[in-house]
Amino acid sequence: MNTTNPGHTLILGGGISGLSLAWFLHQRGQPVTVLDAGNRPGGSIRTEHDQGYQIELGPNSTLQKTGDDDALGRLVKDLNLDDRLIEASSVSSNRYVMHRGRLKALPDSPPKFILSTIFSPWAKVRLLAEPLIGWVLHEEHIAEFVTRRLGREFLDYAIEPFISGVYAGDPRSLSIAAAAPKVHQLEQSWGSLIIGGIMVGKKNKAIGVPRGRLVTLDGGLELLPATIAARLPAGTVRTGTEVITVRPEASGWQVEWRDAQGARGLERAERVVLAMPSHAAAKALFTTLPAASQLLAGIAYAPIASTAMGYARDQVSHPLDGFGVLLPRRERVRLLGALFSSSLFPGRAPENKVLVTSFIGGAMDYQALTMPDPALEAWVRKDMAEILGIRGEPEFFRMTRYQQAIPQYNVGHLKRIKALDKVLKAYPGIHTRANWRDGISVSDCVLNAEKLARRLTGELPEEPEEKEEEEVPTE
Ligand SMILES: Cc1cc2nc3c(=O)[nH]c(=O)nc-3n(C[C@H](O)[C@H](O)[C@H](O)COP(=O)(O)OP(=O)(O)OC[C@H]3O[C@@H](n4cnc5c(N)ncnc54)[C@H](O)[C@@H]3O)c2cc1C
Repeated sequence: MNTTNPGHTLILGGGISGLSLAWFLHQRGQPVTVLDAGNRPGGSIRTEHDQGYQIELGPNSTLQKTGDDDALGRLVKDLNLDDRLIEASSVSSNRYVMHRGRLKALPDSPPKFILSTIFSPWAKVRLLAEPLIGWVLHEEHIAEFVTRRLGREFLDYAIEPFISGVYAGDPRSLSIAAAAPKVHQLEQSWGSLIIGGIMVGKKNKAIGVPRGRLVTLDGGLELLPATIAARLPAGTVRTGTEVITVRPEASGWQVEWRDAQGARGLERAERVVLAMPSHAAAKALFTTLPAASQLLAGIAYAPIASTAMGYARDQVSHPLDGFGVLLPRRERVRLLGALFSSSLFPGRAPENKVLVTSFIGGAMDYQALTMPDPALEAWVRKDMAEILGIRGEPEFFRMTRYQQAIPQYNVGHLKRIKALDKVLKAYPGIHTRANWRDGISVSDCVLNAEKLARRLTGELPEEPEEKEEEEVPTE
């Protein structure tokens, strides 16, 4: 293709962000092509079936939002997959946390909170003072924000392990405004998380349990990207196509790619959307838009190894009657946490067997992923056996390593993204849509893709111009 393709959008990256954007644009009559480096569409979303187990190598489920924010529901309906959408079992509202070496249920109501032995009497009284605590002007990391508003015990036993579960992140680095914007907004709008929570109608559910419903698809989450790719016109999604360079031209964009055999080619289009990981986007812009490249390269990622382990039911003493276990760093357990996968959704394990998924690594333990497979496996199995009272060997074990699993919305992230948008604004026709901005969950990625599709087709107005000059992060 030698001339700019008028009206055509090249989406660079075929994870759920790029694919759902492709779908929403296609539904609005826009011609699109998706280029993806991997050998199958879906990015981090990957389901496998083995020995009667259904294993999610990436996300296990996602939180379906409500009302206007439920783009996931709209997408699933568009794809005629609504009868495949399944909600997690009612036990999912029960979350265990390790406290002084024992697993205890996190309280899910104010009376249970008062009776809970996880938090000391001082921590409970301290909470009463939360509405009286004022603001600070600087951008806080999550640890600072939570300790200031709720006290240290809440950080250690509720927030930090929860943040480990979502971002595999370090609460001393993650920005409260970027990584937990809704919580931060409660303080900004109401001056108090408790008052704000009540005022916006949030019932005082288990600490850290967000609103919405936890869902997956019958057959596995990968059904979602696979169905999008299959329903788009043939040839729209091109896997095995690694984008090497993205270059602005007099009108439109030129994208250089390389296939799995090393053959190179060029595509031209009026519009490009960066939907690949920020480090890959940084490389593609390295020579052509160095300022944007530098900003993208500064986004850190946490490494994770995800392990799925299958046991006969009677090998595991714990009832597995919940979502899973949160493991505070203070308890000195190396695992980040575990999900009771077969308790959450049907079909994840054969009859009389259970499937448990656990995570190790994260932004506070880069060392873990330097271990060779046998050492890492031994570590995970030992920790899991102690935590859940497991006897004997797993009959099934599967580990997946991600050196760059989850983008970290660290302090300075929002400024970085604003600075990036400002740099890119000088080049009409380039956009960004991936999990390294505006939310990392699968449902956030779909919602943000829908918003971009609506903006690009004029259904939503352009983002307003930034008023003040933003300082560009330099590291
Ligand atoms: C282990 C793990 C567990 C998770 N658990 C949950 C969960 O339980 N619930 C939840 O909601 N979310 C979860 N997430 C987060 C969520 O899965 C991701 O944020 C989301 O799927 C990211 O989608 P994406 O399209 O933005 O990025 P990705 O899925 O990373 O897709 C990016 C795509 O870009 C492609 N690419 C890379 N480089 C290039 C290049 N040079 N040229 C072309 N293409 C390129 C890749 O092949 C990939 O397909 C989890 C993530 C991980 C890793």
